[in-house]
Amino acid sequence: MAAPFVDTAKITVRSGNGGNGVVSFHREKYVANGGPDGGDGGRGGNIIVQADNHMSTLMDFRYKRKYTAGNGSDGAGKRCTGKDGENLVIRVPKGTVIRDAETNEIICDMSQEEPFVLCRGGRGGWGNQHFATPTRQVPRFAKAGLPGESRDVILELKLLADVGLVGFPNVGKSTLLSVVSRAQPKIANYHFTTLFPNLGVVYVEEGVSFVLADIPGIIEGAAGGAGLGHDFLRHIDRCRLLIHVVDVSGSEGRDPVEDFEAINAELAQYSPELAARKMLVCANKADIMEDSTLLDKLRAHVEAQGLELFVISAAAHQGVRELVQKTAQELQSLPPVTVYEPTYVPRPPEVDTSSEVTIERYDETWVVEGPWLQRLIANVNFSDYESRSWFDKILRQSGLFDKLESMGIQDGDIVSLYDLEFEYQR
Ligand code: GDP
Ligand code: MG
Repeated sequence: MAAPFVDTAKITVRSGNGGNGVVSFHREKYVANGGPDGGDGGRGGNIIVQADNHMSTLMDFRYKRKYTAGNGSDGAGKRCTGKDGENLVIRVPKGTVIRDAETNEIICDMSQEEPFVLCRGGRGGWGNQHFATPTRQVPRFAKAGLPGESRDVILELKLLADVGLVGFPNVGKSTLLSVVSRAQPKIANYHFTTLFPNLGVVYVEEGVSFVLADIPGIIEGAAGGAGLGHDFLRHIDRCRLLIHVVDVSGSEGRDPVEDFEAINAELAQYSPELAARKMLVCANKADIMEDSTLLDKLRAHVEAQGLELFVISAAAHQGVRELVQKTAQELQSLPPVTVYEPTYVPRPPEVDTSSEVTIERYDETWVVEGPWLQRLIANVNFSDYESRSWFDKILRQSGLFDKLESMGIQDGDIVSLYDLEFEYQR
């Protein structure tokens, strides 16, 4: 049995934690009072996503759903920095859109070649080598590394094709694809032969080609999720042009005008934008047409909407060349394949500051540690004003400064929070 076509997946990714810095003092025979030489922790590994042209489904994500990058190692004496955690590269088919699982916002459209950093590893903690100052020659503290980030994301494959074929099942879409490209989709005289999207490259002439996508037939009610097809409409979302295939042979007792309108209604229900996409109409199975009234009606109907109709027989290769040439010509003046802009707005996480922190005093330095503080600092981008203000606000609200006051902190003392140190001012 053919592998199922998997085009969505929900996964959890986690970048590595930063390693801890250490406290160490230089020791050497006959040398008294060696200085601090505790090395820093290594950085946690990143989660990186990379588009891969050779992958065509999200099958790999069906069973493996958790992806974790390596943690940074702790530092050591003699100023040895811990090893950085290994990055984890997740390969996805080109055209995969990454969304935030909670808000559904778009984080990144992997139709790009460049790798994308989805989660940054935590920064390593500083060893005590950094904390020596003229007034603090024996720093007996080092810093813990910062945690990595964890997030749930949805991967959604949206194929990259210039042209999408739409139409009822059995009208000849797969046949058309197989005739104009080297793709070999399954073709048979029953409905729902095509169970997953197929792509084919159509060579028009030297240097001119386009990618054509065949998706499982759309049926009435598909946009409401009633049947096969709805799920697959996402694969033609990016298309620059649609070819609407209609069976005009009357062989199944169908009315081409009704079919045409039913499919358009499905498209509109799924996405008004998709319904407004440039469309060429293709009347297929002309070779077995017994009565041309159906075709005439369709032509009048379609042309009244300002659309162009091509009469073809995919099976007999008639009229196909003209259709392909017209398609290529239209594509020249159409915008490129849609690339989705990110809509994701990073929000500061909820930080519950109610749990205890430990405060240790080393002369004029106050070293504060605690899980919420660690999480808070890991999420601040100190080069960003808004992020800094958010940090400042949470810190003030937490009551930490009141606590330090009650313990006797003086103006000018140093407050040391992981990789942040600042002078205390009331
Ligand atoms: P799809 O479901 O739209 O992909 O349709 P298929 O390409 O699988 O074709 C369905 C059936 O119609 C198959 O038996 C094809 O051989 C047949 N068919 C497709 N195009 C033509 C055509 O132009 N003429 C005739 N006579 N049969 C065709
Ligand atoms: Mg088909």
